[in-house]
Amino acid sequence: MVTIAVDGPSGSGKSSVSKAVASRLGLAYLDTGAMYRAATLWCVRTDVALTDADAVARAVRDMPLEMGVDPAAPGVVLDGDDVAAAIRTTEVSSAVSQVATNLEVRAEMKRRQRAIIDVEATDGFSGGRGIVAEGRDITTVVAPDADARILLTASEEARLRRRSLEVHGAADAAAVDATRDQVLRRDRDDSTVSQFLTAADGVVTVDSSELDLDQTVAAVLTAVERLGQWQA
Ligand code: C5P
Repeated sequence: MVTIAVDGPSGSGKSSVSKAVASRLGLAYLDTGAMYRAATLWCVRTDVALTDADAVARAVRDMPLEMGVDPAAPGVVLDGDDVAAAIRTTEVSSAVSQVATNLEVRAEMKRRQRAIIDVEATDGFSGGRGIVAEGRDITTVVAPDADARILLTASEEARLRRRSLEVHGAADAAAVDATRDQVLRRDRDDSTVSQFLTAADGVVTVDSSELDLDQTVAAVLTAVERLGQWQA
């Protein structure tokens, strides 16, 4: 059984890289950002004001969320509804930090994420092989005991370019400007409650600024092998 924790800022490529690493090693994959996004959508759909911290915490505790952990098709089902696309809208991306900086919400998310990680340690999708969990606080708070802990970084320029291509299909000056709020402001807000801009003790940094997806996956696999004596 192996647990691999991957943290990183927006646009670092951690979702694509973590999915590829999980597929390669036959592990489950947990996108914890999708859980915070689903929590935000849940509040919007149930008319909970995001400014009302107590009401948000209550709503999130009751949220009927099922996370799929197959790296080839990681589903997000909220109250029976497939919300994989709905949680990626600009509305959710702009509001998610407000929910994610609520400490009661974070405690509930940690509890749910640990439960998923623990299932994969003995059973679950991976049949007990383990999991790659990615987010902002996995290496430090959710799974500080992980076998391999990796911080995936990239230069601000590379992150803006990637997100711009993903969201707008272009990386010209106007598209990059429109992406700034999605990347820089969000990371600034998120970094008030999680440490993902610098590596904590024992966390290995992989810088993907100059690497394509395959090269980044290879670099992460090398770091994992070195850290966990795990054969890819
Ligand atoms: O990774 P992604 O961009 O989908 O994350 C969405 C948001 O979820 C982040 O901006 C952050 O507010 C929150 N998040 C978090 N802790 C995590 C993962 C995501 O606070 N472990």
